[in-house]
Amino acid sequence: MKTSPLVIGNWKMNPTSVSLAKKLASDLKKRLARMTGTDVVIAPPYPYLETLRAVRSESKSFALGAQNVHDEKQGAHTGEVSIPMLESFDVTHVIVGHSERRAAGETDTEVNRKLLSVVKSGLTAVLCVGETKRDHAGHYLTTVEGQIRAALSSLGKAKLGAVVIAYEPVWAIGTGENATAADVHEMRLFIEKVLADIYGRTYATRVRILYGGSVNAKNARELFVEGTVRGFLVGGASLKAGEFIDIINATRT
Ligand code: PEP
Repeated sequence: MKTSPLVIGNWKMNPTSVSLAKKLASDLKKRLARMTGTDVVIAPPYPYLETLRAVRSESKSFALGAQNVHDEKQGAHTGEVSIPMLESFDVTHVIVGHSERRAAGETDTEVNRKLLSVVKSGLTAVLCVGETKRDHAGHYLTTVEGQIRAALSSLGKAKLGAVVIAYEPVWAIGTGENATAADVHEMRLFIEKVLADIYGRTYATRVRILYGGSVNAKNARELFVEGTVRGFLVGGASLKAGEFIDIINATRT
């Protein structure tokens, strides 16, 4: 069971060329060589995976992630990428259910199929959940609970250690408006309670819970300590090597 902090950089559809991707990855590798204690995953666009794998080479200073995947192994699925393809590039983590994909039409059922396939293959699934807006009646909690229950449907407890949950309120993604540390703490407890209801407390604590949404070098330490999460899923700030390193540093105790 992994308990070390985890920071994942989701590069989304950036940077604009493979040479820029190589430069960013090389810079990160250099800076990460002096750091230990936090697991770091970079999820670049698919076409850059081979370049990042080569940059990382033996150093293993970061692991490779994918931003999405198809749940079937092969077949007539134009434009899709399978788990065996990702494995051939040494990908170990796959983001499922990112809000930008949900906004493009991905359903809870599809997220569930992807998560089950990822975990069955022995990779780690990084499940993204989060409400689009907050309300005083607490409906956002119901939304997050529904997403978790749907995504984990028919996942046995023995496989729970292969799941990471990233709480990513949609209103905080790419907006510069992060959730407060108190909000994050409340949600971390809530997610653990939902997991405990399904799997029991012992198994619930096997899931590393991250926060994502406008994390930067300035707010990371407070979100980590007072938000009581195990790390972060970082979008925009993961494209600046110095800032990303500062965020990783904020998770080192
Ligand atoms: C994300 O896309 O998962 C994310 C958290 O983005 P940002 O850090 O830019 O808000």
